Amino acid sequence: MRIRLMGTGAAEGIPAFYSSTRVSEIARREGGREVRTRSAAVIDDCLKIDFGPDTLHQIHRDVLDARDWCALLFTHSHDDHFCRSELQYMLHPFSTCECMPFSIFGNATIVSRVRERYPEWPIELVETESFRSFAIGPYEVTPIHAYHLLEEDAHNFIIRRDGRTLIYATDTGVWREDTWDFLPNTQANLLVIECGHGRVPSDYFGHLTLDDMYAVIARMREIGAIAPDATIVTTHHSHNGDLTYAEMVEELAPHGIIAGYDGLVLEV
Ligand SMILES: [Zn+2]
Ligand SMILES: [Zn+2]
Repeated sequence: MRIRLMGTGAAEGIPAFYSSTRVSEIARREGGREVRTRSAAVIDDCLKIDFGPDTLHQIHRDVLDARDWCALLFTHSHDDHFCRSELQYMLHPFSTCECMPFSIFGNATIVSRVRERYPEWPIELVETESFRSFAIGPYEVTPIHAYHLLEEDAHNFIIRRDGRTLIYATDTGVWREDTWDFLPNTQANLLVIECGHGRVPSDYFGHLTLDDMYAVIARMREIGAIAPDATIVTTHHSHNGDLTYAEMVEELAPHGIIAGYDGLVLEV
């Protein structure tokens, strides 16, 4: 498998609107990898994870083509991951395609919100549930429960193909025990993990600080959730986390973790 991080920013992106944080100011000045669009990824240019408000820009920037997608998977319904209004541009009369060749997979909230806005929705909609695996062509996808929203079954994903495994874990606080119980011996070859709070602890339970992330990775190693030689890369960075991309690189290098950035492509 090959994963492309199309976006690695938190909900507000970097630099953020009206933001005078140090991280936003540096991103305005430096550009390049300091600039982050809203978090999303695509696997093998086929399995698209999340569809946020920056999707069209990301496609243009990385010269991608949505017609290559075989499925669209949603982690949860927050606006930075599920931009419901943008979905209309896949449909007639905005699109020349009568019926898109992919299915949409999302939890009960996503499915009901798509149906509410588009009662005549012509694309297959599949409701997902944590810990219930399903197949999409050669991929086996297992949503695991993210600790991110109390009123919704937010997902992280375990994705397997041809004996290789990746875990995509954006938008989660420290997992609850039902998720930990599911992970022993997963032996993932690649872990994408969020680090939304960076250096700045928050009252909100649904994201990880740097220290939370290190603790989660240590526990994953202990139970064999990730392989000893797994590649680990970060995502979902906030301007409120007080870490620039350059500082992340320096901070994470001794831990053998890659600082994620928009457009990064990794082989699994
Ligand atoms: Zn998010
Ligand atoms: Zn979220």
